[in-house]
Amino acid sequence: MSTRRKFLHSAALGSFGLFLTKKLTAAPLSDTVTGKAVVISTWDTGLAANKGAWEVLGRNGSALDAVEAGVKVTESSINCCVGLGANPDRDGHVTLDACIMDHQFNCGSVAFLERIKHPISVARRVMEKTPHVMLVGEGAQQFAVAEGFPLESPDLSDDAKKAYEQWLKKSEYKPVINIENTKGGGQHDGGGHGPSVPAHLPNGDWNHDTIGMVAMDAAGNLSGSCTTSGMGFKMRGRLGDSPIIGAGLFVDNEIGAVTATGQGEDVIRICGSHTVVEYMRQGMSPEAACKAAVERIVRIKKEKVKDIQVAFIALNKKGEAGSYAIQKGFTYAIKNNNEERMVEVKSYF
Ligand code: ASP
Repeated sequence: MSTRRKFLHSAALGSFGLFLTKKLTAAPLSDTVTGKAVVISTWDTGLAANKGAWEVLGRNGSALDAVEAGVKVTESSINCCVGLGANPDRDGHVTLDACIMDHQFNCGSVAFLERIKHPISVARRVMEKTPHVMLVGEGAQQFAVAEGFPLESPDLSDDAKKAYEQWLKKSEYKPVINIENTKGGGQHDGGGHGPSVPAHLPNGDWNHDTIGMVAMDAAGNLSGSCTTSGMGFKMRGRLGDSPIIGAGLFVDNEIGAVTATGQGEDVIRICGSHTVVEYMRQGMSPEAACKAAVERIVRIKKEKVKDIQVAFIALNKKGEAGSYAIQKGFTYAIKNNNEERMVEVKSYF
């Protein structure tokens, strides 16, 4: 980890660093939380993001405002896994995707957006100020600028530049399994099934590129957000699941809210987040619903599944949270009135 990245990482976690070590817990079958308002978000970066969301939820603000504020914390981190400091595509440009959904099926999305710091807020404007759900590329950027979002520098962050230069040596287009790589410092293996991946990945310590967040507010309403730089060194123009309503994110206020991370292509294939919501509608717990969706991907991918990671996190209408992943190494952060902690997620492998 570069010194700068190390610093940013510990700054982002702040006093949570100790907390993280001590309170990493295995997920029970259904992770019930007490107190109505609750927020969950993907990966260790979720701790700081949940704190941002709680500034809204803790004063009885709406889940919609909370999920926007929460992931903006992550989008703001330079040299992090999402936002303008993240890894570029294989042509050297950072392109960002994001979507947001509220408790009334209102939703907005932007994709292939360049030089805008907060794609999640542009997605919200698409939802609130246009008759559309999704804007992409140049049109999305024009809309953002017209809405007053500043056009940022196209330069890569220091770490992204280094990672890109390193990647260019081989220019190998090969997605790697997403794991939370901040604790191991060595090799991770997917439970004896997945391939080992080096601790020092081309993109530094962040072997994942997304934050997904779902929350319930004190009024019992659900909302969700998802924002990403997409897979590092992706083909120019590639979109994953993260900006796609029903794939990277889905909210049905009667049932629950779900978001996904991992290899977006395989989430899109099964309309992942929507599928998890539908399993919960059938009566499954959040964890069982995430597991059923993961198993569907496992059946489709057959032996190729050992090379991919997909994880879902879900919140139901009772405020119960759950998650399931294909590979070991996925974590999510949970916060309510009484507690905040990381949860180590059960996996297929
Ligand atoms: N789901 C994202 C994508 O495929 C990547 C990630 O979750 O890290 O673009």
